[in-house]
Amino acid sequence: MAWTIGKVKITKIVEMALTGGTRFILPQATPEQTREMPWLIPDFASPEGRLVMSVHSWVVETPTRRIVVDTCIGNDKQGRGVPHWNGLDKPFLQDMAAAGYPADSIDTVICTHLHVDHVGWNTRLVEDRWIPTFDNARYLFGRTEYDYWKTHSTDAAHAAVFADSVQPVVEAGKVDLVDSDARLTDEITLIPTPGHSAGHMALHIRSEGEEALLSGDVAHHPCQMAHLDWSSSFDTDEQQSTKTRRTLFSRFADTPTLVFGGHFGPGRILRDGDAFRFVATQ
Ligand SMILES: [Zn+2]
Repeated sequence: MAWTIGKVKITKIVEMALTGGTRFILPQATPEQTREMPWLIPDFASPEGRLVMSVHSWVVETPTRRIVVDTCIGNDKQGRGVPHWNGLDKPFLQDMAAAGYPADSIDTVICTHLHVDHVGWNTRLVEDRWIPTFDNARYLFGRTEYDYWKTHSTDAAHAAVFADSVQPVVEAGKVDLVDSDARLTDEITLIPTPGHSAGHMALHIRSEGEEALLSGDVAHHPCQMAHLDWSSSFDTDEQQSTKTRRTLFSRFADTPTLVFGGHFGPGRILRDGDAFRFVATQ
């Protein structure tokens, strides 16, 4: 599936689709609560009130660059906090190639943040070593985000992610640390969106009068647009993440901006009373 924003093409590559089983991420989004938001059904929830989400990458092709935004969970990883994310064997790279983007054609990788399901395909396992998957790419990590995890990957799960999916790319000399408000190309500017993680960044795309927002994990699911204070279990700073949701969604609500979430989308944000809701774009 692909969408165009002026001269920019955005393609969704799904690694894993999920319905339900997501309560561990958003404990407040019970089936009862979810059914109170009928606008979520069927695009973002089942009629029973189970959340529909996916783990995916967005490939962003501009007139000059081929960029992968976020790199899912990855194959062959071990020590993940979510047991069924260990030892995956998914055709993610084949799917990318089939969509017209073989790994060696990618020149830029950017991670909105350095969590387990956004860095996995940064590396792949070759003869017991983790090597960069996108050999011709510069990898852009947020400086704030990288510095945070360098000193805060203290529990075993975070340490494993940092060791097999972040540090090998740094050691291969392929990483550029960027400021959270950096301008990447004529069309793409970063927006600092802390809260879910210390240095989380969103991408703002503008081309020929059209706009898109790649919002990463500012929200894991559109239910957080109606309930801005529903933080995910993985938010580093819940107050800050609530604040960031309000600021970011206020800025783009009721505009034609297409919003591509880290685990949903695309669609458009509408104001709804004191909060927001989300309408899917097919
Ligand atoms: Zn995520």
